[in-house]
Amino acid sequence: MSLAQAIHFHAAPEDSPSEEAGCRACGGNLSISACDLGAMPLANAYLDADMLEHMEPTYPLHAKVCGDCFLMQVGTSQTPDEIFGDYAYFSSYSEGWLKHAEGYCGMIVPRLGLTAESQVVEVASNDGYLLQHFVAQGIPALGIEPAANVAQVARSRGIRTESLFFGQATANDLHRRGMAADLIVANNVLAHVPDINDFVAGLAILLKAQGVVTVEFPHVLHLLAEGQFDTIYHEHFSYLSLYSVERLFRAHGLRVFDVDSLTTHGGSLRLYACRETAAFQETQALQAKRQQERDGGIARPEAYRNLQAKALQVKLDLLEFLIDCHESGRRVAGYGAPAKGNTLLNYCGIGPELLPYTVDRNPHKQGRFLPGSRISIASPDRLFAERPEVVLILPWNLREEIAGQLKTLTQTGTLLATAVPRLEIVE
Ligand SMILES: [Zn+2]
Repeated sequence: MSLAQAIHFHAAPEDSPSEEAGCRACGGNLSISACDLGAMPLANAYLDADMLEHMEPTYPLHAKVCGDCFLMQVGTSQTPDEIFGDYAYFSSYSEGWLKHAEGYCGMIVPRLGLTAESQVVEVASNDGYLLQHFVAQGIPALGIEPAANVAQVARSRGIRTESLFFGQATANDLHRRGMAADLIVANNVLAHVPDINDFVAGLAILLKAQGVVTVEFPHVLHLLAEGQFDTIYHEHFSYLSLYSVERLFRAHGLRVFDVDSLTTHGGSLRLYACRETAAFQETQALQAKRQQERDGGIARPEAYRNLQAKALQVKLDLLEFLIDCHESGRRVAGYGAPAKGNTLLNYCGIGPELLPYTVDRNPHKQGRFLPGSRISIASPDRLFAERPEVVLILPWNLREEIAGQLKTLTQTGTLLATAVPRLEIVE
């Protein structure tokens, strides 16, 4: 086979209808290609030293959009157990996230008038970073956290936590045991659920007649506008909008009545939903957000077609920058080992030759290696000992928090850089 034939053989026709299963929300056709990042390992499959001699499974990472409900999504390559069985993410290692949780609790308790008679349930409650604020006020709280090691941390802090996957079966089981929620919190979990219909059906089962569910997720409109292609990874199944979530909720008897715009994860939405029959009035903020999405073309294929070109530009610019650093003898290190960093580095083909190591505050990641790129993860102490000339911040959404932590480096000339949405030096 000639090279030209080989290229032709491997080239997928653009926007061809998927032969796989359809949209995970509505069953529609995934007819729009948003961003094909090639094959790479799972973003959270950090490697121990003894795994470096072995192969790593890789899976295609191709974001497609449903032509019916316009939910952007990637295929399911593995079971939830494989993804969350020993999840290394502990929310309590990010200061910004802890403040966000405290602020949420301070807002929602008075808004809903929650008391010692109320019941709060958090799905994907992680290490109890959020529920601790309800518990401190004497409000009954139940956490549901599938990762057993993370759930154990929450229990050791006195937060009632069940180590279960959430869905209809779990909701029915809890309901039979008398559990009904005045507030269900589902922050940054809806996007990570393979069977999104089963999950939302569970929310509807567990909610009291006048209960409220709040969900937070990175807003796909920001992802598209800012070219945040690195937030695409296998464990992040769905890239949500008000448009797609309203449609999904409606199918399960839930309606959205309010929305907040958040700065978390590069631009998120917090939706407030209730039963169709509950008393909550739709807010002006909700109507304005629907209009903003319409203006952004949320239900038009054209809105999704620029992402591939933006990803390529980031790759070209970052490679040029790192090659220049290498040739001019400037020492470079990374900061952070987030999932999005793995998408970025693996898509760009960057390994230890251009980025010798990264650092992370999470001790569960230290001493391990990034999947695919096999870049080692050290403690932040190493940065302060070695004082590299350039630090590439991988969790760009936390750039200000990290710049604050690295002040003693930048004061002596270290440059901090981010690669997404474009290569920038952090001032
Ligand atoms: Zn759909």
